[in-house]
Amino acid sequence: MRRLNGLAGVAVVAVALSSTVSSQSRSAARAVVYENARLIVGDGSAAIEAGALVVQDGRITAVGRKGDVSVPANAAHVDLSGRTVMPAMIDVHVHIGYEGYTRWGADNYTAQNVLDHLQREAFYGVAATQSVGSSPTDPSIQFQRDQEAGKFPPASRFLFMPGMAPPGGGPDAVLLKGTTALHAVYEVSTPEAARAAVQEMAAKNLKSVKIWVDDRRGTYPKMTPEVYAAIIDEAHRHQMKVHAHATTLPDQKAVVRAGVDVLVHTVQGEKLDDEFLALLREKKPYWTTVIGLGDRTEICDHDPFVDQTLPASVVQAIRATTEPRPLAPNCGPRSPNFAAREETLANNVSKMVSNGARLVLGTDAGIHPGYTFGSADHHEIARWVQFGVSPMEAIVAATSRPADLMGLNDMGSLAPGKRADFIVLNANPLDDIRNSRRIANVYLRGAKLDREALVAKWKKGSKT
Ligand SMILES: [Zn+2]
Repeated sequence: MRRLNGLAGVAVVAVALSSTVSSQSRSAARAVVYENARLIVGDGSAAIEAGALVVQDGRITAVGRKGDVSVPANAAHVDLSGRTVMPAMIDVHVHIGYEGYTRWGADNYTAQNVLDHLQREAFYGVAATQSVGSSPTDPSIQFQRDQEAGKFPPASRFLFMPGMAPPGGGPDAVLLKGTTALHAVYEVSTPEAARAAVQEMAAKNLKSVKIWVDDRRGTYPKMTPEVYAAIIDEAHRHQMKVHAHATTLPDQKAVVRAGVDVLVHTVQGEKLDDEFLALLREKKPYWTTVIGLGDRTEICDHDPFVDQTLPASVVQAIRATTEPRPLAPNCGPRSPNFAAREETLANNVSKMVSNGARLVLGTDAGIHPGYTFGSADHHEIARWVQFGVSPMEAIVAATSRPADLMGLNDMGSLAPGKRADFIVLNANPLDDIRNSRRIANVYLRGAKLDREALVAKWKKGSKT
C-alpha cells in the first residue's frame, strides 16, 4: 500500500487560529425553560403543542407539555408562543475546507476555513457536519480535539472519515486534485493493503470509512469487489461503518450485497429494478440522497435565504455562469434531459424509501466551487418532500436517524440528556417543509448562536 495519509496535511492545517477566540460559550448553570412552542422531538413522535423544553448546562433536562414538565424554581423563562422548535440537523456528507468563496482548492484547507464552513452549517441550524473522504486524517483528529476542548467559537460539530480508493481513482477530477494535495485518501489496490489501512484507521479510533466504487464512465480505475469486500469485513470487525459512493444501479447492487452500511448517491440514470428493491428490503442500508447541491440553483432563483451568507460578488458570479443546470431556469439553460431525469429521480427516491432504505441527510456541499454550506441541507430535505417523503419523516432523517447512524447518542432529538442543539422556527415545517428556512434562532449546547455577527462577517468577505 502506498500510504498517503500523513504529515503533509498537518502543515497545511496548522495555520494559527486567532489566539483571542473565545472559548465555546455554554449556558450558565441556571436552568432555562423554553415554553409555549410546538416541539418537534425528532424521533417521529407527534409534535407537542404548547410545550416546555428545560435546558441546563448545555443539555436538555426535561421536555413535554407545559404543565406536565417540572421546572426548577429559579429557572429563566423564554416565551416561544407561535414558534416551532425542532432539533438541529446533522449532515453526514459534506466536503469541508476547500471552498474559499473566491477560489476553491486544497490551498484553502486550513483549520480556520474548516471552522468557517462549520459556522455556516451552524448558521443554518446544522449541529454536526461530517466531512467524507476529503479531510486529512491527523489534522482532522486534532481539529476535533480542539473543538471539543472549547478552543473555537460556536460552530457545527466536526466529524470526518477517511476515504479509500484505487491509486488514481476515487473523487472526481475536481476534488481529486484537492484530496491528492492533502493526502486525504488512502490508496489501496489489494485486499491485504485494504485491511491494513482499515486497521490503521481503527487504531486511531475512527468510526467510519468511505469507499468509491465508480469508474467514471470508464475513465477511472474502479475498486474491485475483492478489495471492497476486505474493507467491509475488516471495518465491521472493528465496529466501523462503510459508506460507499456508487452512482449506477449495478454498482449500488454490488455494494449493498457486499454489506456496506451507507449508500451515497441516488441512481439517476435508470429506474431501480425488482432485484435491487428486494436487496434493500433485506439489507436496509442507510442512504444519503445527495441530490441537493441546490444552493446554486436557488441563488439563480434569487432566494435570499441562500444569498444572505454570501458576498454579493459571489452571488453575481454564480448567477453569471451559463453551465446548463437541471433545476435553474434563471441561471443558464436547463439541461435537455431535465424532465426525464426528474421523473427517474422521483421514481427512485420514493422506491428507495418504501423499500426500507434508511434515509439520512447528506448534501455533498463543498465538493465543487460555489456550493454553499448549510442552505443545501434545507434544499435537500425540501427535495425529499417534493418526491413524496412526509415532512415528519424528512425531519427524522435530518436529525435522530443520522445521530443513530453515527453513534452520536447525545444528539439528534429533543430528549433529556441530549445536547441542547435546536432550531427555533417562525413557522411549522410539518405544514410546509420550506418553513425549516424561517429560522428565528439556532441554539448549540444551550447557547444562542450570534447569527447576525456571522452574517456581518461573511458579507464583508472576511473569515475571522
Ligand atoms: Zn461526496
